[in-house]
Amino acid sequence: MSIHVRDVSKAFGSFRALDRVSLEIADGALVALLGPSGSGKTTLLRVIAGLEQPDSGTITEDGTDVTDRHARARGVGFVFQHYALFRHMSVFENVAFGLRIRRVARAEVTRRVDELLRLVRLEGLGGRRPAQLSGGQRQRVALARALAIRPRILLLDEPFGALDAKVRVELRQWLRRLHDEIGMTSVFVTHDQEEAFELADEVVVMNQGRIEQRGAPDEVFDRPATPFVMDFLGTVNLFHGRIENGRAFWHGIPIPVAGSAGVAGPRAARVYLRPHELDIHRSGSATDGASLSAEVLRIAPGGAVTRVACRPAGADEPVQVDLPSDRARDLGLRPGETVRITPRTARVFPVDHDYVI
Ligand code: ADP
Ligand code: MG
Repeated sequence: MSIHVRDVSKAFGSFRALDRVSLEIADGALVALLGPSGSGKTTLLRVIAGLEQPDSGTITEDGTDVTDRHARARGVGFVFQHYALFRHMSVFENVAFGLRIRRVARAEVTRRVDELLRLVRLEGLGGRRPAQLSGGQRQRVALARALAIRPRILLLDEPFGALDAKVRVELRQWLRRLHDEIGMTSVFVTHDQEEAFELADEVVVMNQGRIEQRGAPDEVFDRPATPFVMDFLGTVNLFHGRIENGRAFWHGIPIPVAGSAGVAGPRAARVYLRPHELDIHRSGSATDGASLSAEVLRIAPGGAVTRVACRPAGADEPVQVDLPSDRARDLGLRPGETVRITPRTARVFPVDHDYVI
């Protein structure tokens, strides 16, 4: 089922939670709504579900206007962050709930709930109460309950937000397989970019009730459309520099600009360097004019990545460099020593006032 959100606005009092949002979601897609807290993700999901009425704009499903249609008539399944299971009911009855209120025959209910419990790998646990399950299991019950009515659209609001990191990773991979198996259209809300990027066919980045950018995960990551998206997608080093002939200049050294179309310059720009797009060499080994001398301040070993804070000679602000940990080990860096850092690529956004340096 395809979904088309057209020009939807929604205010709470004088606060605009959604500001003329338009979004097309293809049949069978798995789309992530990504954005900071308060950006309107939940409101957009609730408007799509029919749990919230927009002030203006329309929602269509497969070309049919459903804006005035009650949530129950829209064929959507909804999973919330905090399980929202019925505590006094067994797992079986929780999953059966939507079928019972639709007066599905008893034998059919049993057949379908058993099938769903197998699907979410909870067979044999139908007699338990939610309190007797782990967080990950409870969220799988919530998912089974949402799937019981055979929704053509599955909406998930930070479904894994309350779970610990390991369970989250397992559940999201599993959700991806489930989505593909069932062939639904799914929209899930998250503020975790890793989750969005791993799971989704398409990422929609929201900010202050608007869509800042949408696209395939690698497209959004490689070509962030705005400074907001760049900032939001993780740690970056930001400098004020300039651009000229498709290159950014940072402390006087030129850096190739990713997606440099339309940034010929010369003009002032914000220059963004991602920590993993910087490299560190031993002093003296790189004197090609494309590297800077810098002092190592701190080294924070991690799993795959070691974070190194450096201060370029003559600069106030430190720069963060993420090195693959085996490379960091080979270099054997020590705080206080002088190294050379080489930025491989930069992203630039011209500063708003359009003056030439
Ligand atoms: P997100 O899910 O991205 O964190 P929400 O859609 O929940 O954002 O909320 C967007 C903004 O709208 C928030 O500032 C929130 O306080 C406000 N808001 C959401 N729902 C209501 C409501 N029912 N009444 C008043 N304000 C609300
Ligand atoms: Mg929310």
